[in-house]
Amino acid sequence: KREEDLTHTMEYALTQDGKRIEVVANIGSQKDAEEAVKLGAEGVGLLRTEFIFMERVKAPTEDEQTAIYSGIAKVLGPERPLIIRTLDVGGDKPISYMPIPKEENPYLGERGVRIGFDRPEILRTQIRAILRASEVGKVWVMFPMIGRLEEIHMVKNMIEEERQNLGVAPIKTGIMVEIPAAAVMADLYAKEVDFFSVGTNDLTQYTLAMDRGHPKLAPYVDGLHPAILRLIAQTVKGADKHGKWVGVCGGIGSDPQAIPILIGMGVKELSVSINSIPTIKAQIRTLNTADCQKMAELALSAETGAEVREVSPLPEI
Ligand code: PEP
Ligand code: MG
Repeated sequence: KREEDLTHTMEYALTQDGKRIEVVANIGSQKDAEEAVKLGAEGVGLLRTEFIFMERVKAPTEDEQTAIYSGIAKVLGPERPLIIRTLDVGGDKPISYMPIPKEENPYLGERGVRIGFDRPEILRTQIRAILRASEVGKVWVMFPMIGRLEEIHMVKNMIEEERQNLGVAPIKTGIMVEIPAAAVMADLYAKEVDFFSVGTNDLTQYTLAMDRGHPKLAPYVDGLHPAILRLIAQTVKGADKHGKWVGVCGGIGSDPQAIPILIGMGVKELSVSINSIPTIKAQIRTLNTADCQKMAELALSAETGAEVREVSPLPEI
């Protein structure tokens, strides 16, 4: 259970009725981690490792990655979790030294963990570095773009093999829920992982079939559309069945209108942009779980995104 993993004593964000919602940061570097801690982050819910790869002319070696991840873990200290997401390139995130053959539909092509299956040495190297870094902090691993159960089995096998080679302790393992199939299958996938983190940017893109960066479609690519909320609710229900927790690391986790609804649906952790940490904690402290649950119920029966926003007006803080 998430609660057992969190033994530190920093100032938590508790709702009015005393329920803790963990507020952690989305980061891309050690500098971000330092900034996040200063602003009250209770950990890191998403380290986007692709940024570490993208700023280089060739892939960082296992030792280099170990040093980078360990450096970030040290900034966070022994109590704050660091969730490291494995490389999520492809789609809108190209890397010059890892060319992907031209695809008709890059967002539906070799992206995220799929690249790691095509080029396993890249993924294995990263897994080894993450396992080594897990010796210096509370480091967990998370995989992007998981859709099928076999993919979970494959990454878990890789982790187990590398873990035995290195002789290190087991690591908590989670997946991004950003492909609708993962949300729909959450009650079964939850048996296999320690946690889920909902990537609402991609979940919205794939559920509404709208490019997340499309300038003309931007007004409609709404993570608060009830279809997305229903998938998140289904994810939480599936996770609950097996005593696993669900976080949200996509953009709506930082949206003040989404926060009461997410809490009402049973989301335990919000991984948000660094700058929004203080205001999100302040907002959580004004909320009451029972009210949030009512709001979530209304939002889940809303017919449009606009209706959802009416259910959850902007807070005054
Ligand atoms: C997401 O898809 O919501 C997410 C957090 O991942 P990224 O934005 O890095 O694709
Ligand atoms: Mg994503």
